[in-house]
Amino acid sequence: MISVQQAITQIRAAISSLPDVTIPIEAAPGRVLAEPISAGQDLPSLDNSGMDGIAVVAADTSSASPEQPVILPLVGSIPAGTNPEKPLKPGQAIQIMTGAPVPPGADAVIPVEQTNLDYSQPVTDQEVHIFAAAKPGDNIREKGGYYSKGDMLIPVGQVIRPQDVGLFATVGKAQVKVIRQPRVGLLSTGDELTPPGQPLEPGKIWDSNAYMLAALLEKSGAQVHRTGIIPDEREKIIEALDALAALPVDLLLTSGGVSMGAYDLVRQVMESEGTLDLWKVNMRPGKPLSFGTYRRIPFIGLPGNPVSAFVGYQIFVQEALRKMQGLPPAEVESIQATLTTPVSSDGRESYIPGKLTKQDGNWVVHPNQNPSSGNLYALIPGNSLIIVPVGVKFLNTNERVNVRLLD
Ligand code: AMP
Ligand code: MG
Repeated sequence: MISVQQAITQIRAAISSLPDVTIPIEAAPGRVLAEPISAGQDLPSLDNSGMDGIAVVAADTSSASPEQPVILPLVGSIPAGTNPEKPLKPGQAIQIMTGAPVPPGADAVIPVEQTNLDYSQPVTDQEVHIFAAAKPGDNIREKGGYYSKGDMLIPVGQVIRPQDVGLFATVGKAQVKVIRQPRVGLLSTGDELTPPGQPLEPGKIWDSNAYMLAALLEKSGAQVHRTGIIPDEREKIIEALDALAALPVDLLLTSGGVSMGAYDLVRQVMESEGTLDLWKVNMRPGKPLSFGTYRRIPFIGLPGNPVSAFVGYQIFVQEALRKMQGLPPAEVESIQATLTTPVSSDGRESYIPGKLTKQDGNWVVHPNQNPSSGNLYALIPGNSLIIVPVGVKFLNTNERVNVRLLD
C-alpha cells in the first residue's frame, strides 16, 4: 500500500496538461490563464485629474487661504473623455472632471471642495475663489503612474478572478487564452443503484455519488459527461467506458466496483482492458482508490461508499484536474485545531468529517460521531476533514489536529 502523498505524486506524474483555447473574457472566471497579460500602453495614457475640481498653475495659488482666497477667471470646462489641446495660461483656471485629461500648462488640480463653485452645473465665464494652495502634481494621476507599456501584469497560470477579468478589459482585451476545460466522463456502477426520483425496491439505494461527483466536478471547472447507472456487468461497464472514451474525455471517473468483492468489476475491467497502475492507498476511508488508464485515457476509480468517494475526490481527483490545467499541487488550507471529543483510527491516514469553529479566538473541531464511510450525512453538519496521521490510532479530547477545510 502506498501513502496518500505518493499516490498524489504518481497521479500527477501520469497526467499531462491540456491545450489552450481562446474565449471571451466574460467566460474566463475560474479558468486558468494561458497567456501572459502585459500592458499595451501606459496607464493612465495621459495625465488626468483625480478629482472633480479646477486645473491651475500651482504657483498661482501659493498664497490662497480661506481668509484670503486667490481669485482666478475660469476659461472653460473639461469633461472626461475629451482631449483638451489648448494650453492653460498662468493666471487662468479651468473646470475639470475626474478622469479628464489635464490640459497642457496646468500642473495641479484643486478639489471643488476648496473652491466656492457649485459643481452641479458646468461653469464658464465666471471667477473662482480658491481657498487652499496647491503643489505641482496635486490630484493629478500621472501618465504611466500605474504601469508602463510593456509591463507584465498577470502571469500565466493565474486562476482567473473577477478583478483579472476587469484588467483584461482595462488593457483592451475582449478575448483571452485559457487552458481548455477538462472534460470528465463520469459513471456510477452498482446493481443496487436506482436514480433518485424513481421508487426504491427493497435492497436498493438511490445513487448519490453520480450527483455529488458531478457537482464536485462542475465546481472544479470541469465539463461533465455522464452515463446512466451501470450494472455490475463486465460488458456493460466496457460499453459505458467506451462511449465516454469516444467523446473523447480527458479523464474517466467511476464510482464503485473497485474493492475486493466478487462484483467489483471496474477494477477487473481496468486490469484486462486498460492499465491499473495504482490500487490501494494507505488511507481511511477510501483505501481501494484506483488509478490507471483506459483506452489511453487517465482513469480514477473511486470507491462506492459515498464518504470514500467524496474524500477521494478532494484528495486525488482535484489534483488530477489541477495538473491538467498546469496548476501546482493545491496548497490546501490546513488549520490546527483542538478536538472536542476523541477520535480513533486504525493507523491509516484518516479523514474524519468534522465541524471547525472558533471558540474564544481559538480553532476547535467537533468530529462527527458517526463517521462511517457509508454515511454521507456525516458530511452535512460540518465544513472540514480532520486528518489523523499515519500510525496514530487514538487522539483524545483537547489534542491538536490538522484540519482540512472544505469550501
Ligand atoms: P462498492 O465500492 O461498489 O463496493 O460499494 C461500496 C458501498 O457503497 C456499497 O454499500 C454500495 O451500495 C455503496 N455505493 C456504491 N455506489 C454508490 C452510489 N453511486 N451512491 C451511493 N452509494 C453507493
Ligand atoms: Mg458495487
